[in-house]
Amino acid sequence: MRRMPLFVLFLLLPLSSGQGRPAAGDPRDGGQTMTAKIISGKEVSASIRQELAERVAELKEKHGLVPGLGVILVGDDPASHSYVKGKEKAAGQVGIYSEVLRVPASTTEAEVLKMVEDFNKNPKIHGILVQLPLPDHIDENKVIFAIDPKKDVDGFHPVNIGRLHIGEECFIPCTPNGIMELLDRTGVELKGKNATVVGRSNIVGKPVAMLLLSRHATVTICHSRTTDLAGECRRADVLVAAVGRPRMITADMIKPGAVVIDVGVNRIEGGKLVGDVDFDAALEVASAITPVPGGVGPMTITMLMKNTVLAAERTLA
Ligand code: NDP
Repeated sequence: MRRMPLFVLFLLLPLSSGQGRPAAGDPRDGGQTMTAKIISGKEVSASIRQELAERVAELKEKHGLVPGLGVILVGDDPASHSYVKGKEKAAGQVGIYSEVLRVPASTTEAEVLKMVEDFNKNPKIHGILVQLPLPDHIDENKVIFAIDPKKDVDGFHPVNIGRLHIGEECFIPCTPNGIMELLDRTGVELKGKNATVVGRSNIVGKPVAMLLLSRHATVTICHSRTTDLAGECRRADVLVAAVGRPRMITADMIKPGAVVIDVGVNRIEGGKLVGDVDFDAALEVASAITPVPGGVGPMTITMLMKNTVLAAERTLA
């Protein structure tokens, strides 16, 4: 029997990342330089918002119910004001009623707790969001813990975090939820894959690791004390970077053909926004990657809208 040429054997190997083709550095690419597929959070976000607008219209038509979002913004941090504006705009787009309480930085903790309590009792409000960070004199945890878990659309209340860990119905924090939507809508297979998450914050790293685990990935969580970060990253079929250090994940830390999700938002000299991943170099190694901006970012607000619609729908159950 004639021996099969080596390059044909490579072509017959199953793909590691589920993205449908080999990437640069992978022997299957025949030495050609490949460019990763760009996972557009903007596009995915737009289609989810369209779906949400339809769900909201149905809630109004069938049940006379308008999902409502209550937002508390304390102080005058420009970034927080800009995020809240974005949330108000998104709510308007999908037909969610929103109420924003903008109060000065001098507002006391007791006053903020009272606002939360009022939203808890308000039947027009199904989701509550307290924009973080809060001024130093206000205990963030105390405020988050005061939110009714059924209205905790940010998913930061310990009841929701606990329910997420035991696989019960809950509100999933928005950024991790957005990451999972991006992976799902890109058709990335997670079962049995190695997933590495760099960062262990309560709002991104830990919950996304838990979600990947629930989808049967083998998950590694890295942090500032990880001894061989590059090695841990190189084993990953799916790599999630949520650190907050510009371009710290370099191409040599990425497994050829891996799917890379870049959560980081870092402003560098000249005002440019970059992620935690060296995007241009990673394009040549990964099979798919999220850009910054336009990747995970747009998904976060969209998932807040999704949780608010969900919160309203759950009042009917
Ligand atoms: P945190 O600062 O809370 O957490 C950063 C994590 O990175 C920590 O776990 C830290 O480890 C780890 N880390 C720091 N340095 C290193 C290092 N050298 N090697 C390995 N790990 C390291 O950040 P967040 O999780 O809140 O956010 C992460 C990034 O994502 C930021 O850029 C933020 O702006 C962005 N972000 C973007 C969102 C979006 O919607 N696009 C939403 C939320 C965040 P340790 O625990 O040991 O200190």
